[in-house]
Amino acid sequence: MFRSSRIRNLLTLTAIAASLCLPSQGASLPSEKNRRISNPPAALKSIGWPRLYKYSKYYNTKTYDVHILGTTEVSDEKMLLVAEFIDNMISALKSPQDRAKFAGHHICLIGSKDPDLGELGSIPNQRNAGGKNVTLLTADAINHIARDDQGNEFFRGWNIPAHEFGHTIELKLELQKRSDQVFSSNEGNYNLKMKREYFAWASETWFNSSRSKVTRDKMPKWQYDYLATIFDAANKWVPSSVSQQGQAVLPIKRN
Ligand SMILES: [Zn+2]
Repeated sequence: MFRSSRIRNLLTLTAIAASLCLPSQGASLPSEKNRRISNPPAALKSIGWPRLYKYSKYYNTKTYDVHILGTTEVSDEKMLLVAEFIDNMISALKSPQDRAKFAGHHICLIGSKDPDLGELGSIPNQRNAGGKNVTLLTADAINHIARDDQGNEFFRGWNIPAHEFGHTIELKLELQKRSDQVFSSNEGNYNLKMKREYFAWASETWFNSSRSKVTRDKMPKWQYDYLATIFDAANKWVPSSVSQQGQAVLPIKRN
């Protein structure tokens, strides 16, 4: 359920997630007047483990009625970038019934100065997690330049949200049994202890966001065929990383 792909990260530490900017076939950007960030509605403040954080920002994606919550550490720009990303990832789902299941979902954004879940008495060392009804993301690690332990610069594109929201999709659409069957019978060196990670990793690849640089058109056929039963293969949207400095983001109005 949680991002624990440390081994994989080590293998791909120097890889750069160079997401391509392709014509969007997903949800369109909200119009200027709809790009409003407000205070969170009181009813949304007590949800699952992210209730541990204090949210001061709120945005509703409208398209699928997804709640985006952010702490004071999260920029308005990142709130909207993530909202757009989530809308597009849901839009990529094949079935309208599946898309409708995300109404009321919570995306919780925290900053690097916010404590991790372990410091709050929950899961140790976790700052990103994909659950059935809540997805927790560290905003600073999205679409941002970062450094590895050796000081080498690498680009954190959209691998973390694609991964964590991949977990959310698998749980929300109850794909666990299908995933277990597909990955256990096809994946070389299948690790039972990591069985909940395979779909999340494949989601990164489907949206060309994997730091391994493997893209949708290069993924194994069996994996592509499985994901193509869930996502619409004709939908070529992948997240753009051009707005890493925030330039591509339209002005924001606060209520
Ligand atoms: Zn994971």
